[in-house]
Amino acid sequence: MRDLKELMRPAAAVLEPYDPAFAAVEVNLSSNENSFGVPPAVCDAMAHALAQTAANRYPDPLAPALRAELAAWHGIDPERIIVGNGGDEIIFNLFLAFGADGAKVVNCPPTFSIYRLYAELLGCAVADVPRDPKTFAIDEEALLAEAADARITVITTPNNPTGTLAPLALIERLCAATEGLVLVDEAYLEFADSPSSLALLGTLPNLVVLRTLSKAFAFAGGRIGYALAAPEIIDTFAAVRQPYSVNVFSQAAAAVAVRERAAYEGILRSIIEGRSWLAGELAKIEGVRVWPSSANFLLVRLPDAHSIWERLRDEHSILVRDFSQTPGLGDCLRITVGTPRENERVAVAIAELLGKDLP
Ligand code: PMP
Repeated sequence: MRDLKELMRPAAAVLEPYDPAFAAVEVNLSSNENSFGVPPAVCDAMAHALAQTAANRYPDPLAPALRAELAAWHGIDPERIIVGNGGDEIIFNLFLAFGADGAKVVNCPPTFSIYRLYAELLGCAVADVPRDPKTFAIDEEALLAEAADARITVITTPNNPTGTLAPLALIERLCAATEGLVLVDEAYLEFADSPSSLALLGTLPNLVVLRTLSKAFAFAGGRIGYALAAPEIIDTFAAVRQPYSVNVFSQAAAAVAVRERAAYEGILRSIIEGRSWLAGELAKIEGVRVWPSSANFLLVRLPDAHSIWERLRDEHSILVRDFSQTPGLGDCLRITVGTPRENERVAVAIAELLGKDLP
């Protein structure tokens, strides 16, 4: 047999397995999950739905019950929705259907690393339009120019890992300025005081909006994401996707979560309040810079971030995400907003590690 790497698709041969840097800790604030979990009443309703779900039959590929719940929530025709195995699958399938063979994909780093990873794996050429190094705002004119001949342009709002919003007016201008598609990734929109670009779907034929149940709905383990777009674009997703990628249990439980969405309102409020509280506490510590965030996490810069990250894990059993090696994010950590107790633990630990007690 030839060398495995030589047998592989060259774009795959250079990759290492994705490592989310999981560690067994008491406080996990590393992956922007929802620490509160699914509300108990919703859990009971999910358990009931799961008990009635037959595992011997293949799932309906288009997840009709879940799609109907999502359509009712967003006030959008179900034909404009496709469900995937997490938002990640939606991103992958978008590049699979529209990318490939040197097609240009534009994104605005620092941002979610999966865009570049999947785009390159599928043979696209990624063009970066870097954000302002201090505010992380998008360079709008540079983006409009770069996107003109792009196949896919990605805008993340709120952006991961910076928490920055993109103005709706920019999305409108972008959709008009590009010959390709615009993916607006709204994975964290439920935490933002900002309107969704979904309202623009009827007027912008090249807009694709991505949402997920992983964050606000505390359903990261269930792996449900979805795209909203013109029916013709949704049809292309349906054509390229693995038909059974979203299993019956996840479909059934997610439909319950969306139907019972009012039960999550208190949790969302707590996370938003926790974000203000944590940002305020961290900003009091000398040497710590906190960026404003519209998501369920905070980006912070502090002295010797990598060693603080290690010591949080090893001495305080707290895991956050280390971005200190990412271009533009030197000495930065990303901290998910957790429960009040978790927020307090991470604030106290950082203050202690930087040699100061919180006032
Ligand atoms: N988009 C962004 C910006 C994210 O941060 C994430 C999760 N980290 C996703 C999409 C995908 O989330 P999931 O696959 O869990 O739906």
